[in-house]
Amino acid sequence: MSRAAEEWAAHRARVESLGQALAESRGPVRLRKRTSNLFRPREAIERTELDVTQVNHVIEVDQTVGVAEVEGMTTYADLVDATLPHGLAPAIVPELKSITVGGAMTGVGIESSAFRYGLVHHTAHELDVLVADGRVLTCSPEQRPELFYGFPNSYGSLGYATRVRIGLIPVMPYVRLEHTRYSDPDALFAAIREECTRPTCAYLDGVYFGPEDLVLTRADFVESLPAGTSASDYTWMRQYWRSLRERREDYLTIHDYLWRWDTDWFWCSGNFGAHLAPVRLVLGRKRLSSITYQKIMRASHHWPLKAVASLRPRTESVIQDVDIPIANAAAFLAEFEAEIGIRPVWLCPFVVPDGRFSLFELRTDTPYINFGFWDMVRSSEPDGHYNARVEKLVARHGGKKSLYSRSTYDEATFWSEYDRDTYQSLKRECDPEGRFPGLYEKAVKRG
Ligand SMILES: Cc1cc2nc3c(=O)[nH]c(=O)nc-3n(C[C@H](O)[C@H](O)[C@H](O)COP(=O)(O)OP(=O)(O)OC[C@H]3O[C@@H](n4cnc5c(N)ncnc54)[C@H](O)[C@@H]3O)c2cc1C
Repeated sequence: MSRAAEEWAAHRARVESLGQALAESRGPVRLRKRTSNLFRPREAIERTELDVTQVNHVIEVDQTVGVAEVEGMTTYADLVDATLPHGLAPAIVPELKSITVGGAMTGVGIESSAFRYGLVHHTAHELDVLVADGRVLTCSPEQRPELFYGFPNSYGSLGYATRVRIGLIPVMPYVRLEHTRYSDPDALFAAIREECTRPTCAYLDGVYFGPEDLVLTRADFVESLPAGTSASDYTWMRQYWRSLRERREDYLTIHDYLWRWDTDWFWCSGNFGAHLAPVRLVLGRKRLSSITYQKIMRASHHWPLKAVASLRPRTESVIQDVDIPIANAAAFLAEFEAEIGIRPVWLCPFVVPDGRFSLFELRTDTPYINFGFWDMVRSSEPDGHYNARVEKLVARHGGKKSLYSRSTYDEATFWSEYDRDTYQSLKRECDPEGRFPGLYEKAVKRG
């Protein structure tokens, strides 16, 4: 048997045993995984835990067609390790190493190449979904299109992606970055709009540090470094996010570019003291990573860390990614500054090549800006006040909110955003007995 045939046989065996375990179990189900980037507390109810940790292999990288066949629980760190030796990378590589291909498919993953290719689900060609009775349904734009187009933003409430055929792009060993500073948000968004129409670089993202302090980064591939130049290293003592305002030009290996935000969880590692040199020195490269911070965050939901936290002034956690049509981006940002005030904010532009994704409908006639903000806000208001304000702001500016974190929508408002009819029809097909939580229950009521 060829190596590829062996990989496919092993894949089929792993998925078959997962399907069997699901078919033989009873009652509500949830995934058992090693990591998670979900930022809403889970409801403490009894559920069968489906151990999916083994479904984490890259089955095949097809250089000729430029696709990878990947199991659903494969992390992007592993996928990138498998594709880079071929001079290829996933078209979109969500920037936290532990995000999985299935998680990004269902959770509308994004990164700085999205201004060319769209969101992660726009770059998928086909997927297999394990549904509640243990069947595996293959779907694509041609086969079961309702499920293919309804899967993104379903967050495991219809079934689990066990295989994804995902698009790859050619890359080079290095990336040259050019950081441009702006004092006027309108000028920055105009430059982004121009790049979305006539791209001049491979990757594009920005950061809002304050009302007159923004940076736009264009990054492009280079085969080798200019003579006398070495690639920067932000994986230990130096921090990438600081470099944006310190340098105009920079070089990184393609590997370090793809993971540039992981070492400091963008800049959120500061909440754990990791902006301090002695802390970085002690933690070392391996532990400076989003996986470490996730573990600390999760522990903080438990006693005794929770008890320590309760001694501090009252805060509300506002961890959100929201998508706003570019024409409204500057106005959104100004109101966000006035009403929420978190800084910095990540700005990631994206286009929408296909508007048929029913649970995350976006306009195809405009680029969007994904605003990412992740912090605690000091609050004397009832809990949830600031997250609800974000939802209202997003609605006011014709945007869409990701559901990986806290949501406060009432049920009618929620379904006015996320196409109840299509969802219910898919739910009847994939999970008629309700073994997986419903999307509203999961996203809002802490399933
Ligand atoms: C602070 C923070 C910053 C973020 N920034 C970014 C960002 O910049 N870019 C970006 O792309 N994303 C970002 N995300 C969001 C992230 O991509 C989504 O939360 C994604 O769903 C996480 O995938 P995961 O593999 O870690 O899944 P998990 O966190 O384990 O699960 C997330 C949800 O997806 C479901 N799920 C997981 N695997 C599957 C599967 N195989 N099939 C079906 N459902 C599944 C789970 O049931 C769960 O509801 C961020 C999240 C956080 C918390």
